[in-house]
Amino acid sequence: MKYIYPVLVLLLSFVFIMVETNVNQRSIDLNYFGLAAYGSITIIMLLALFIVQKISDIQEVYFYLLAGFSFVYVSLLTATLKNVYTYAVSDVSILEDLFRLVGFGFVIVAIIKWIKYNEEVKQRLIELASTDDLTGIMNRRVFDIELIREFANAKRYNKSLSLITVDIDNFKIINDKHGHFMGDLVLKLFTNEVLSLLRQGDLFSRWGGDEFSILLPQTSGKNALRVAEKIRFAIKNIHVKTDHDPIYFTVSLGITEFLSEDQDHLIMVERADKALYEAKESGRDKSVPR
Ligand code: GH3
Ligand code: MG
Repeated sequence: MKYIYPVLVLLLSFVFIMVETNVNQRSIDLNYFGLAAYGSITIIMLLALFIVQKISDIQEVYFYLLAGFSFVYVSLLTATLKNVYTYAVSDVSILEDLFRLVGFGFVIVAIIKWIKYNEEVKQRLIELASTDDLTGIMNRRVFDIELIREFANAKRYNKSLSLITVDIDNFKIINDKHGHFMGDLVLKLFTNEVLSLLRQGDLFSRWGGDEFSILLPQTSGKNALRVAEKIRFAIKNIHVKTDHDPIYFTVSLGITEFLSEDQDHLIMVERADKALYEAKESGRDKSVPR
């Protein structure tokens, strides 16, 4: 089934030459140069078809290329056939030009579609490489790049910058009690809630598991603590519905701001982590600045 098209091409060229030979009984003298050209075109077409077969999963591009090649091929066959025998098949020339035109048209459409397809695939790959699958927000890799950039800006221009790390409290228990699927719903609900509270320009990322990071450019530690508290209270008031009890949950947050003596972004991360650890140690459901 896969090679039906190349087989059809071979059949077509064979039928073409047979029909032309019979219609034109006068044709006696075989031109071997013409015959060689005729054969070469068929071989080139077959090669092209085998190559095109490789992209048969991109159906639209595949269809246009096949159609384009077919028209051009038929057009070339009729043109070459004139040289196979020593007579002229003059009445097919308009059809020949038309086929060639339509064929090239299809090939051009195929190329445009192919370029568009590649662009879409590229975009999708960039998206996949930079976002977290479950929540759709920025992943850690991209967040790190942004953090390094914002840190450099803060240091160079002496601007304020704050970092919050958030971790869902006792998330393991939620998973164990309600199942992984419900755990995922908690992560998604949490993400949407935080997104609704942040400003444009703030960066929100899933650090991994149930841990998230928020970067607040041009925000002091004092204001970052306000943001953290706003998040903490908002989270306490939302829940995931289940067939039984709704799932309420809380979060702990560690907050830190950029200090002029900080050598690199990792020092900020470390401080925020320590603050989060303190929040957990002191009973959870807390925002701790450091
Ligand atoms: P703590 O209050 O100290 O943070 O307790 P915790 O139970 O939240 O502690 P821990 O960080 O050890 O638990 C995180 C759990 O999150 C463990 C892991 O099985 C679960 N987890 C990680 N990724 C996912 C995920 O994508 N979906 C779900 N449902 N669970 C996940
Ligand atoms: Mg946790």
